[in-house]
Amino acid sequence: MRYAIISDIHANLEALQATLDDMAGRHVAKVICLGDIVGYYPNPNECVKICREQGFQCIRGNHDDAAVGGCGIEDFNPVAQDALRWTSENLKEENKEWIRQLPEQCIVEDHILAVHGSPWHPYAYIFSPGGAARAFTYLSVHHAGIHVCFFGHTHQRALYYSREGSVQEIERKTRFRLDKSGLYLINPGSVGQARDGRPGASYLMFDTDRMEMEFRHVPYDLDLTQRKVIAAGLPLMLAERLVLGI
Ligand code: ZN
Repeated sequence: MRYAIISDIHANLEALQATLDDMAGRHVAKVICLGDIVGYYPNPNECVKICREQGFQCIRGNHDDAAVGGCGIEDFNPVAQDALRWTSENLKEENKEWIRQLPEQCIVEDHILAVHGSPWHPYAYIFSPGGAARAFTYLSVHHAGIHVCFFGHTHQRALYYSREGSVQEIERKTRFRLDKSGLYLINPGSVGQARDGRPGASYLMFDTDRMEMEFRHVPYDLDLTQRKVIAAGLPLMLAERLVLGI
């Protein structure tokens, strides 16, 4: 079965639409979304509507929780806090209700785990092989049958591999075939707010029959998103960072 793994849309409609356009014709059976559907950009209702109507398998992220009152905003930076206040005011109640009922993580096909930040906590970041090692240990204790864990939250592509206790970061590969005896932690990057220096939307295709994955990068109309950020009165920095991919 072929899955598209998307994460951190952050209410960026142009980025989400470009991602869906890129998926079209690639025989995607299911889209799995790793959370942070909203927060930062100006189209939270439209992005939630697409996820709902197209039946994406979604989990909640920290921005989703904060936008619907599921956690406080004090741990976010000032720009994120401004955007979360705006999102909370503009998100329709029915969309808030939908977000509230999303799970914190989910298992697909018995051997794939989808989390927002890390397997042990949705708000924790995995930024390094050390963080990945902790996650692999956690998985082996709490999720014995899991072979692949997808995570988001950092907005940066990542691919970690573990076998017989050693952890390796596999870099600069766009396509990759997974080895059935290893464990993998894979971050598809962010749809709505790139932080890897490459402006555009990132996501991942995963074919469970062939055990092959492919990182995808898609350009979109950044100018339009920027104009909408300004028109909505959201922090200017959110528009500026899109062109830098930071
Ligand atoms: Zn995020």
